[in-house]
Amino acid sequence: MQIFNYFLGLVLVGVIGFVMFEKVLVIKLVGDSQNSKPNQITTLYDTAPKPISKAIKEPIKKTVKKKFKVVIVSGHVADRRKASKQDGRGAKSAGGVYEYRFNDNISSWFKQKKYQLENVEYQVILATQNVSLKERVNFTNKILKPDLYIEIHHDSALLRDIKRAKREGADGKMWRLISGFSMHVSSQNRFYKENLKFAKILSNQFLNKNFKPNLYHSTTNRFPLIDKKRGIYNRIKPYGLYILYHLKNPTVLLECATIINSKDEKMVNSPQNQIKMVNAINNAIKIYIKTKK
Ligand SMILES: [Zn+2]
Repeated sequence: MQIFNYFLGLVLVGVIGFVMFEKVLVIKLVGDSQNSKPNQITTLYDTAPKPISKAIKEPIKKTVKKKFKVVIVSGHVADRRKASKQDGRGAKSAGGVYEYRFNDNISSWFKQKKYQLENVEYQVILATQNVSLKERVNFTNKILKPDLYIEIHHDSALLRDIKRAKREGADGKMWRLISGFSMHVSSQNRFYKENLKFAKILSNQFLNKNFKPNLYHSTTNRFPLIDKKRGIYNRIKPYGLYILYHLKNPTVLLECATIINSKDEKMVNSPQNQIKMVNAINNAIKIYIKTKK
C-alpha cells in the first residue's frame, strides 16, 4: 500500500510538472492568452500550426481526387517549317494523303467530352499544332508527367514490297499481309513491362472489335514480332523509336491501320470505324487503370 501511495505521488508530480512545462512552452510559442491583449493573441495564433485533425484530413482528400493522366499524341506534323527538320508529315496513303491527317482524325475525338472517361484527364496534341518530336517529349517529361502516353500513327511498307503488292494485284497475298494495326514497344525502354502490359490490353480491345493485326513487319527482319496474336513489335536499335527511348512514363505507339493499302485507307476514313478505335483505346485505358489498383 505504501508503495502504491508513493507511486501515485510520483504520477501526480509528473502530471503537474508536465502541465506546467506545456504551459511555459505554449506561452513561449504563441503567448500567454490570459495575460495578453486580445489583438496580440490573434496575431500570434495566426502563425500557429493547424490542429492535427485538419492537417491529417487535407492530404488524404488530395490523393483521392488525383486523376489518371493520359497524353494522346498524333504522330508527325502538318508543317515541318513550324516544327523541326527532323519532323515530317509521315507516310503517304494509297490515295496520296499524308499520314498526319489520319492521325489527327483519331486523336481529335478525344477532345470531345463524350469520348473521355470520367476519371481520366486527357491531354491531346494534334499534328496540326506542329509540336516537334523533341518538344513534345520534353513537354511530356517536364510538364505533363502523365501515367500513360499513346502516340497515334498509320502504317506503310517498304517501297519494294509496295511494288510487289501492286504487281500481284488487289487480291494478292502481299496486300493481305500489308494491312491492319500494330503496337510498338521497346525492351530498351525503362517501362518495358508496363508498355507491354498496356500494348496487350489495347491489342485485345482492337481484336474484340474485329480489327486485324499487321504481321507484315515480321517479314522485313527489321524489328522482332514479340506477340504474333496481338501484332506487338519490339523496337530496338537500329530500328528504335525516339519516344520509346526518351519518355519517362509508360508509352505505346499504335499504328491504327496500314494506309498504303487502299482497303485500310477506306476503312479508317469512316468516322464509325474511327470511333470504334477510340472506344477500343478508352476500354484499354479503363482496364489498365484497374490493374494499377
Ligand atoms: Zn507515323
